[in-house]
Amino acid sequence: MVMRETHDPAPARKISLERLILLPFLLLFLVIFGFLALSSWRSDLRAAEQMGEALNRQLAGQVVAQLDALFDVPGRLLAANAGMIANGVLPLDDADALERHFVAQVRAFPNVTNLAFASVAGDYVCAYRLWDAPQEVMISTATLASGMESFTVDAHDNRGSLIIRHPNFRVAERPWYDVGIKADGPVWFPVYPFFSGKSLGVGMVEPIRDARGSLRGVLLADISLHEASRYLAELKLGRGGYAFVMESDGRLIADSTGVPTLHARDGRVERIGAMRSTHAEIRAAAAAISQRLAPGAGGAWSGSLKVEGKTQLVHAVRYVRGDGLDLVVGVVTPRATYLEPMLSGPRRQLLLGVVLMLLGLVVGRLIARAISKPMRELSVVSARVANDEWAGEVPRSRVTEIATLSAAFSTMVRKLQDAVSLLESRVQERTAALGDANAKLQELARTDGLTGLVNRRGFDEALDAEWRRGSRDGQPLALLLCDLDRFKDYNDAYGHVAGDACLAAVARALQGIGRRSTDVVARIGGEEFGILLPGCTPAEAQASAERARMAVESLGMKHEFTSDGIVTLSIGVACAMPGPDVEAGIVDLRRRADAALYRAKRGGRNRVEKDQAAT
Ligand code: GH3
Ligand code: MG
Ligand code: MG
Repeated sequence: MVMRETHDPAPARKISLERLILLPFLLLFLVIFGFLALSSWRSDLRAAEQMGEALNRQLAGQVVAQLDALFDVPGRLLAANAGMIANGVLPLDDADALERHFVAQVRAFPNVTNLAFASVAGDYVCAYRLWDAPQEVMISTATLASGMESFTVDAHDNRGSLIIRHPNFRVAERPWYDVGIKADGPVWFPVYPFFSGKSLGVGMVEPIRDARGSLRGVLLADISLHEASRYLAELKLGRGGYAFVMESDGRLIADSTGVPTLHARDGRVERIGAMRSTHAEIRAAAAAISQRLAPGAGGAWSGSLKVEGKTQLVHAVRYVRGDGLDLVVGVVTPRATYLEPMLSGPRRQLLLGVVLMLLGLVVGRLIARAISKPMRELSVVSARVANDEWAGEVPRSRVTEIATLSAAFSTMVRKLQDAVSLLESRVQERTAALGDANAKLQELARTDGLTGLVNRRGFDEALDAEWRRGSRDGQPLALLLCDLDRFKDYNDAYGHVAGDACLAAVARALQGIGRRSTDVVARIGGEEFGILLPGCTPAEAQASAERARMAVESLGMKHEFTSDGIVTLSIGVACAMPGPDVEAGIVDLRRRADAALYRAKRGGRNRVEKDQAAT
């Protein structure tokens, strides 16, 4: 059986059912996921920036408060000492009393580095501490003539041993002194490196005048800015964060890095600008701040900067004191410091999302499998059926629709199979019937309708076949040609119907004379019969012919025009030993039998004549 195959007009790109089901799952997940991740990242960034800004602002506030406390000290001490000098409690001409007073005050104020009075005459009294050994208090005194000498101070505030002598020291050359004598009241003098060259100091000076208003000298109180750096270093800054204080011209006063804010070069001490800090974050922040905060004006600025690929959050406040000090406080922290702890939540969510997505994909795949597997199997089985391969298990499925489809398909296949086998058996039956009919037709074609004997055609075929067989087997063949006598007259006398009945009766009589199954009795013409006797000797043939003649005679059918008054038969007999020349052999046999029959007729009818060549 051949089924018509169907082809797509254009082979479109195909996609498997499993992919078709899974792909939308995956796309949906990716879209939702991407959207959630993006929006959460954005809000996290915003939150981190807000948090960082708030923290930076708070830190800057703390720094300002701390600086306030630190920078208040010189002014307070100057005010106290100037007051005491004015009302005579602190006599400027009693160097010893002045020295003891300053020592006591330095001990009482740990942030103070120098408390001094320099007279216009060049005398100098100072109690001080070193910025790097704050518990030790020392004194220095100087005169115009002797230069400066420094001494230790014992536990009872008495002068101890000499530490160092600077013969070239002239108090009038100190930068603060010049500021002091030109001032009207207490003023800050510029930030300066200490005589040691290792730390910055800043302080206030105040000119002291007598009752008549003439200048007596300059009072000094200063503090080490190392204190401010130490404080900034202790500040709880975020990871990677820095705080710094700079003057409005950008020079660093203090920072949280621990790196000195000044360095010595060729015996000279140089201060470091914030924009030349060793830390890139401070450099960038200082540059941005100096653009945004104009010198002298108050205010604050918050913003973010990209430094070496990292976003830094910057907050700056202008720290301007009523007593004239003008500084800027800056705090800079990487945004990542605030973002990272925030991301741990989203990271967990992200992980959960990924796990859920994978789970979804696994479930999706299972569903897709459950649908696509039986469909694929079904398609394989269908393809087989299309190729006439009936054997094939129809897939089972728990999915109702697929199970129904499967069942329907297998029913269809079974019905188709039944129909095909029915068709095939019908075709076989019909073919067999046709064969039978053909055989019958063949037989009919060789049978005479009136007598039921073999007809002329059948007889010719039999003669041909028997000749060949005789030739093959070396067996003789006898031919008897029989003709009813005066049959025209019979018809004329009794009618054609009676003639037919007579022919049928003669045929039956002739059939009875056969001895062998191979004998053939045929009606070969109107009232002519032929008898073929294979394997028959001339004598046997002669006897058979005689039996035939007598069989007709003994029918005793009335025929008033024959000499015997009954229906009779004349017979010519010829025999042959069949040779290889079939055609010629048969023609000769017929001719001889015919000649014998002719002689029988001429001889008076109702007789047998044999071929004269035979003996
Ligand atoms: P003879 O003895 O010389 O053979 O004489 P005859 O009359 O038999 O000779 P002829 O061969 O001339 O006549 C044959 C007749 O046989 C002619 C015809 O009327 C008759 N006949 C031939 N076929 C049939 C048939 O099928 N039915 C009938 N009823 N008669 C037939
Ligand atoms: Mg005849
Ligand atoms: Mg005749």
